[in-house]
Amino acid sequence: MGFLQNKRALIAGVASERSIAWGIAGAMRREGAQLAFTYQNEKLRPRVEKYAATVDSDIVLPCDVASDDEIAAMFEALAGRWDGLDILVHSIAFAPREELEGAYLEAATRAGFNAAHEVSAYSFTALAKGAAAMMEGRAGAMLTLTYLGALRAMPGYNVMGLAKASLEASVRYLAQSLGPRGIRVNAVSAGPIRTLAASGIGGFRKMMGFFEQAVPMGRGVTIEEVGNVAAFLCSDLASGVTGEICYVDGGFNMVGMSERFLEQ
Ligand code: NAP
Repeated sequence: MGFLQNKRALIAGVASERSIAWGIAGAMRREGAQLAFTYQNEKLRPRVEKYAATVDSDIVLPCDVASDDEIAAMFEALAGRWDGLDILVHSIAFAPREELEGAYLEAATRAGFNAAHEVSAYSFTALAKGAAAMMEGRAGAMLTLTYLGALRAMPGYNVMGLAKASLEASVRYLAQSLGPRGIRVNAVSAGPIRTLAASGIGGFRKMMGFFEQAVPMGRGVTIEEVGNVAAFLCSDLASGVTGEICYVDGGFNMVGMSERFLEQ
């Protein structure tokens, strides 16, 4: 029996088979969870429906997380299918492409800052409000995806780093708000992975090259590896863990200088 047997998970952020959310869906399904998915716009619907069917799900709902009305309608539709929810996965980020090129100071604009924070940070809180209402009386768990650029300056990551810092703070504040209701809130901070979102970051290829030079494990991480940790954090096996940022990055975040550099 899988460790997520009888759990119901809502997953937001599947755009392709390379999406981190898809790695999480695979791990959660393998461990026995029932899954529901959201998609941002109609263009993506057939694709997400096709992916959902391969993990035995026919719950695929529209939800642009920039709209409170769409979020409310999505949870209303979900409540029509499920009488409760155990897991929320938020695997969503957006910043205008021009914000992710060149130096932060030159690239940053008020509008870009607001858009990045609204979609990449506030949307987790917005989804948490709706999810928490469906988690009453259950040992609920919420999870979001973040990146080391929240803590350290990374060229090209720019305003997304600021939004991830806000997202990480919201993990802690949500964990505090929801702890008394038995709901846990955590994040996985993943190493760089080639996905659609990653392709929008200026210099991602070089960022990946730098990572591979320094990472103790000598290789990148996979969406399956992120998925396994996400599944664990959202399971009762992690019942004592909340407000944490858990790194799945091959150890890159803790390295000051690479041993491989000495060998060069
Ligand atoms: P991805 O496959 O492109 O997923 C990003 C998702 O966000 C897409 O499904 C996208 O939908 C969705 N999205 C954007 N704006 C939205 C909105 N307004 N409403 C609803 N959905 C919206 O890329 P990914 O790399 O898996 O990203 C997932 C998460 O992991 C993000 O938070 C990202 O920052 C984080 N992360 C990624 C990496 C990495 O290296 N890839 C590393 C650490 C953390 P559309 O395609 O329809 O826009």
